[in-house]
Amino acid sequence: MVDAPIPTTTFAALGLPEALATALAGRGISVPTPVQAKVIPLALGAGDILAQARTGSGKTLAFLLPLAARIAAGEIHRAWVVTPTRELAQQVAREAEVVLGAQRTALLVGGAPPWPQVQDLRRDLPLVVGTPGRMVDHLGRGALKPDAEIVVLDEADQMLDLGFADELETLVRDLGESCARWLFSATFPPPVHAAVGRWLDDPRLVKLDGGAPSTHVRQRYVVAPRNGELAALGRLLHALEPARAMVFVRTRDEVEGAVRAIAAEGLEAAGISGELTQEARDRVLGRFREGKLAVLVGTDVAARGIDVPGVTHVFNLGLPTGAESYAHRIGRTARAGADGEAWTVVPAMLRSKFLRMASAGGSRPEEAPLPTGASIVAARRERLAGRVKESLGEKLALPPAFAELVKEHGAEAVLAAMVHRLVPDAPPERAPEPVRPRGAAGGAMVGVFLGIGTADQVNPGNVVAMLCHQCGLSNAQLGKIRLWERHTVVEVPPEVLRQVLSRPLHHRGRPIQAREDRRGYAGGSSSGGGSRRYAPPTDRRRT
Ligand code: ADP
Ligand code: MG
Repeated sequence: MVDAPIPTTTFAALGLPEALATALAGRGISVPTPVQAKVIPLALGAGDILAQARTGSGKTLAFLLPLAARIAAGEIHRAWVVTPTRELAQQVAREAEVVLGAQRTALLVGGAPPWPQVQDLRRDLPLVVGTPGRMVDHLGRGALKPDAEIVVLDEADQMLDLGFADELETLVRDLGESCARWLFSATFPPPVHAAVGRWLDDPRLVKLDGGAPSTHVRQRYVVAPRNGELAALGRLLHALEPARAMVFVRTRDEVEGAVRAIAAEGLEAAGISGELTQEARDRVLGRFREGKLAVLVGTDVAARGIDVPGVTHVFNLGLPTGAESYAHRIGRTARAGADGEAWTVVPAMLRSKFLRMASAGGSRPEEAPLPTGASIVAARRERLAGRVKESLGEKLALPPAFAELVKEHGAEAVLAAMVHRLVPDAPPERAPEPVRPRGAAGGAMVGVFLGIGTADQVNPGNVVAMLCHQCGLSNAQLGKIRLWERHTVVEVPPEVLRQVLSRPLHHRGRPIQAREDRRGYAGGSSSGGGSRRYAPPTDRRRT
């Protein structure tokens, strides 16, 4: 394994103060990863650094620890860390709290009001963590002084990919020649080469494994028929029952489609996209992190650098944009030495393109058959058997009702009946649903008003799940879903309106009011992609 060769180093032996090593040990971190073992000694001295190591290899602490040590020693007074996304900046700031202490970091990200950030900057905090756009804003207004002695460009490949070259140029130029520059990147494409040439001065180089994906990730793919990608994903999810999975799609619009399809399969999923308010994004990520949400759907941009421990599966719905995107995505699982699985749903026409892309990044995914209903059931029964086996060591009493059944029918018959109850046989294969949702007349839809909204932490996936499972509709029958703070309007074909209104709807145990929408919310006023806009229009927090 790539991560194995430096097992005996300790953080103290790398030159870090004992107090830092102790703070880390309290978090269960005691052995430096290879990139940490190499970068930390260099970073405790002067000069520029270029470090390349794959995602999940521990680059964040590789720069935060030496920064914290040098700040604590009074060697430097200020450092900046620039990251590609808000989430990543928040994550770095959280880790900084462990190594630097609370209230020592200013977090400068978009999507949050700038004024509290300005106040933080006035407090002269030693660490500034932010995204390029917002940092340049604060620099331009004079709130952020270009006085850092070290600037860290984290995930440089992604920042350049996202088009932040100009912002980074401004930040680096304003900091001037005397500021040391540390550039971290998982991959080393030509734009990063160019940036290194422009911004770094004779850097010391740490290069670990060429950015190749973790060997702990088992990579597989299934080939899906035309327009059958969502159905294939649904099958994989049923067959694998992932504890915590990320699903990647290519565009923002596809996020909602995937969430809805997964919800229609009876699984809970939520999406993160740039269209959500920061608060809503944080809430979704929080639930995913806490294990309350099994499936998170996002685009590359929305999911950049998100480090959620314990992601067991990554799914690509369709092809990633390139070898680097593929490597980043599958790097979301198997973090810090854990195991993980990466699955790609490949449209039939694009199979060889996908294989070329994977092999360009040094991977060789294996093809797997598309799970059938019967194989899904078999896999679930096998997992059930595994869990039963785990309990066999315990002394467990048979409840009287079952003891009676066993006496009457024999243990084997009772057990077989129980397995079939818990994991029923697969229903007959359904014909694929039409792609475009429309009323029977091929036209007009009517609105259903539901007395539930974003304030109840409801997302479009919940609404789809509710209508599919409580009213017997199918995902393909549902049209636009528009969420407001306290209500939601869903378009359905007129012929199913009564079916919807005749069933009692509930969400998380609470009855939900439903009636025909007569205010025309579902109508033409919201054209122009209204179906995708599920952030509440009343929310003005986004900047
Ligand atoms: P990268 O930036 O290289 O993608 P991160 O810095 O986000 O990786 O680290 C990935 C995960 O590994 C994080 O959850 C982090 O807490 C964990 N981690 C980092 N260093 C160590 C270590 N020395 N021992 C155990 N876990 C670590
Ligand atoms: Mg990182």
